[in-house]
Amino acid sequence: MDGKRIKMGIDFNELARKGIPDKQAYEPGKSVGEVKKELGLLNVIKMASNENPLGPSPRAVKALEQAISTIHSYPNGKCTELREKLSGKLGVDHGMLHFGSGADEVIASIFNAFFNPGDTAVMGKPTFSSYELSCATAGGIAIGVPLREYRNDIEAMIEAIDDNTKAMFIASPHNPTGTIVTKDELEFLLEKLPLQVLIVLDEAYCEFAEDSQYPDSLSYIDQHPNLIVVRTFSKVYGLAGLRVGYAVASPEVVSILDKVKLAFNVTILSQIAAEAALDDEDSVEKYRRMNSEGRKYLTEELTGLGFEVVPSQANFIWFGYGGLVDDLPQKLLERGIIVRDGNPFGAPDHVRVTVGTPEQNREFMSVIKQLL
Ligand SMILES: *Cc1c(COP(=O)(O)O)cnc(C)c1O
Repeated sequence: MDGKRIKMGIDFNELARKGIPDKQAYEPGKSVGEVKKELGLLNVIKMASNENPLGPSPRAVKALEQAISTIHSYPNGKCTELREKLSGKLGVDHGMLHFGSGADEVIASIFNAFFNPGDTAVMGKPTFSSYELSCATAGGIAIGVPLREYRNDIEAMIEAIDDNTKAMFIASPHNPTGTIVTKDELEFLLEKLPLQVLIVLDEAYCEFAEDSQYPDSLSYIDQHPNLIVVRTFSKVYGLAGLRVGYAVASPEVVSILDKVKLAFNVTILSQIAAEAALDDEDSVEKYRRMNSEGRKYLTEELTGLGFEVVPSQANFIWFGYGGLVDDLPQKLLERGIIVRDGNPFGAPDHVRVTVGTPEQNREFMSVIKQLL
């Protein structure tokens, strides 16, 4: 707890809902602007938040320019047109989509809709911080199962389930390590998991996965109505700032999730940009190709220098620097490169670096070489 919150004799920690004062608030990473200002640097590159280094889809930008004069209206609370377009693209029924203000809100809604205080959520350790944060808000208890060789340990996660378990959260590709859950593993998991335990498969980075073992997760929902697949427009579609994410799930699950979302959770501009970005297959393809090449380049270069690099299926790379450099994130920061420090993930001597443009990747490697 970060201190007592007493004002005019009122203890706001007492007033708050049970558990909330003990909760950590999300700590955002530093922005380019902040780093420039704090360190007096002119050139700073951010390779920390897995954003699209090519920027937003030009088609989305154009659609936004045209839509800007409509913002006096409330958005369509059902995302009707986006729903239509996305359901066609994914080949799922309209009723199988739930939209949120980013995948983050979808995750929060899963907790808000399904969790009673004391229910547990099984997840990898380390994993995407949202799961734990939203779990705590809902009064749930997060059970972190250590990764095994940087991968979600499916068998151990199944063993961690008990009578209080409401859901299991798996990111694939995993954040922060970039590893996937294979088709065989997913099938094993779906087979073993009791139907009353939800499995949330977070595929924020699915578009970057090239491994032939990567499953077609949507095809399992019909037979496994406890499966919820979560995706986002923040990564490959380059719309992180507009906050659009969604869940694909059985209509029964979707109708529950829809009950807890805010009425107008996805803004007019967000819906319009997402629709346009869906149509912009050229931009997506261009980014995927660039990412694939950059990922290969960084993996080979870092491995060649002796770093412990985890083969990634995402748009970022997780690697260990122990024994090679001290405090790598800070040293990179001082030289104008922002990466994600492993420490808050409970992984000292590790960093997560977002694959950038070829130019950014070369700059990153050149700074790394200077530091060795
Ligand atoms: C980035 C990310 C998301 C997406 O978050 P948004 O709220 O849609 O921006 C979801 N899950 C994981 C694992 C992520 O890394």
